[in-house]
Amino acid sequence: MVLLGAASAAATRAGAQAKPAELEESDPVAQALGYKKDATKVDKAKFPKFAADQLCSGCQLYQGKPTDPMAPCPTFAGKLVRANGWCSAWVKRAA
Ligand code: SF4
Repeated sequence: MVLLGAASAAATRAGAQAKPAELEESDPVAQALGYKKDATKVDKAKFPKFAADQLCSGCQLYQGKPTDPMAPCPTFAGKLVRANGWCSAWVKRAA
């Protein structure tokens, strides 16, 4: 049992390194920045600067190709954000 537990913990660590976890909307920083996995769900009353064409995939901070479904974002270190997501730190990607 002890050996099994150790192997399982090692596998979990290896998995965490290989693939970062997706950012959840319940994350305190995500909530503070109004992050939504689906930009159509953004609270427009709370974030009036949001525009429908602003998506993570078009953000300067999106650390992937615009066509990647998810990618890391330095605003949420170690987490993956969705291409169709949005948060109030959005900055237009340089052309
Ligand atoms: Fe998406 Fe940009 Fe906010 Fe990161 S900073 S979550 S890429 S909108």
